[in-house]
Amino acid sequence: MTDDLLEDATARFAEASALATMSDDTRERLTRPASVLKVSIPVRLDNGELQTFAGYRVRYDDTRGPAKGGIRFHPSVTAEEVTTLAFWMTFKTALLDLPFGGGKGGVTVDPKTLSNSELERLSRGYIAAVADVIGPDVDIPAPDVATNQLVMGWMATEYDKIARGHVPAVLTGKPLALGGIQGRDSATSDGAFHVIQVLRDRVLGDLEHPRAVVQGFGNAGSQLARSLHDDGWKVVAVSDSRAAIHDPDGLDVPVLQQHKEDTGSLSSPPSGEELNSGTVLDVPCDALIPSALEGAIHAGNAAVVDCRVVFEVANGPVTADADKILDAKGIEVVPDILVNAGGVTVSWFEWIANRSGDRWSGAMVAERLAERMTTETRYVADLADGRGLKLRTAAYVHALERLTAAVDATGTSAMFGSEGGI
Ligand code: GLU
Repeated sequence: MTDDLLEDATARFAEASALATMSDDTRERLTRPASVLKVSIPVRLDNGELQTFAGYRVRYDDTRGPAKGGIRFHPSVTAEEVTTLAFWMTFKTALLDLPFGGGKGGVTVDPKTLSNSELERLSRGYIAAVADVIGPDVDIPAPDVATNQLVMGWMATEYDKIARGHVPAVLTGKPLALGGIQGRDSATSDGAFHVIQVLRDRVLGDLEHPRAVVQGFGNAGSQLARSLHDDGWKVVAVSDSRAAIHDPDGLDVPVLQQHKEDTGSLSSPPSGEELNSGTVLDVPCDALIPSALEGAIHAGNAAVVDCRVVFEVANGPVTADADKILDAKGIEVVPDILVNAGGVTVSWFEWIANRSGDRWSGAMVAERLAERMTTETRYVADLADGRGLKLRTAAYVHALERLTAAVDATGTSAMFGSEGGI
């Protein structure tokens, strides 16, 4: 599964690279990750036993700036998965024109089986293990699946201990009190909402109350479901890892959010019917929004998808094979590296604020995020329309233009090809 994931990612890269103006140097640079670190993290459990967890930090490419990307805690984490996610981050930061490369980290663990203090020891142990390869000018971690502000707070303070000083810019997504930024928690869903607004007419026409299905009810999925609900959409189905909930007339999203907060899951919902199938992917809708893990829509289930457009809020939720099936059904896919880029964009603001010792207001964050997301979404849509490309391919072509410019500027072709002199 995870090997296929990396294969999928490189297949899309190959498809886009055939259409982009790209040097051989760039192709060669992007073929392999710059570094893959595997560590073992010994953690003393509450019962006194010592358990060792596998952890990773991958720097895929840092030509355009320090590597940037989250750390996930999940049982499916492997070197291949983290490498693929770091590869996607490389394209995401280039697409949004952030001064970063791509990185990612993870620990193979089911965080639900650990107590809070065990999680704290694991988070601190992870940072101690990777401290030599991260830093504000080298590689800057952030939250990802099952890691949040609390985890970032533990990690940032652990790094400070090792560095013997305050280094807030080493890591983003921190609690506000430790140098975090307003709006980072909602940044991924806010960014996705901007992308949807820009593309709405193009992909949904003039539907007044489009129907959305949101698969994954974590940080990004639940907040986006809420934004759409508040904007007059009908959110007809949502799911988490335990339950799938449906109401063709539209769910009461705020009530479901509260239920999830109170009980930890969507099971036995106060609004809507629980689906026995456990899946919402086949529920008819206008926009399907996978917001959980990679590979959710694959060759085995893409045929049942019944919508006009898919917005990829998760990283890699549609496999390359599924892409083809959806395309044949006339379903447009708006790619992850655009749709979920709001998170890393606000991480950039946090990093800037930390480095300059400044604080940004929520209004500043919102304005700059809207500007970045809107500009790049319009560019990708125009490129797709102008050249007859799918949105995913256009996004990759655009990111590759920026990566190529950077790689070529570091290479001999740049030096010997120019006139030179002042
Ligand atoms: N984990 C998020 C992503 O996949 C955010 C990364 C970051 O803020 O560096 O884009």
